[in-house]
Amino acid sequence: MATPVATHSRHTGITVFCVGAVLAGLLSAAPLTAAEPPVAQYAAFHDIVKRGPSIHRKIPNYLVNRQLAAAFHDALKRIRALRSCQGLFESLDADGFEVLADTTYIYAETGSFRSVCDEACAFTTVGGSMVGLCAQFGRIPVAEAAQVLIHEALHNAGLTEQPSDPDGPTPDEIDTMVVHACGF
Ligand SMILES: [Zn+2]
Repeated sequence: MATPVATHSRHTGITVFCVGAVLAGLLSAAPLTAAEPPVAQYAAFHDIVKRGPSIHRKIPNYLVNRQLAAAFHDALKRIRALRSCQGLFESLDADGFEVLADTTYIYAETGSFRSVCDEACAFTTVGGSMVGLCAQFGRIPVAEAAQVLIHEALHNAGLTEQPSDPDGPTPDEIDTMVVHACGF
């Protein structure tokens, strides 16, 4: 059973809460298995870039849609360009490209987990493959949005977080790690 994880991301003095909540219900609520292509299909960086992020249904928010496309690309570029960034995933026995390629993004502002968006811009599940995006995600700078996608992807790759895992890193520690390793 997954447990909630919170991420606090700060940018230029403005505190943005990006909850990396672990919501098991989100995964079981959406019939996504059939829509998820096999990992091997996305062996090449360019294939993933060309295809873009997988989206569940439609994101009815222009800013979030646009932000996701730009931040997804930015995150992939950083993982490709920086060995240290890919290394974050390798330390979890995962491949950054494959994790991002296998992620399905869902607009959460209008769904069952809408309340999470009161203090979050994004959330996900540890070991899962869905990331919920809130309206706030569309209002942060694109680099920060890319940082959020990588942070959430690390949770998908298995990275836990305090307080749900007392032995895990804090959300701030994960952010700091991503900032340094991925050149933000
Ligand atoms: Zn987190």
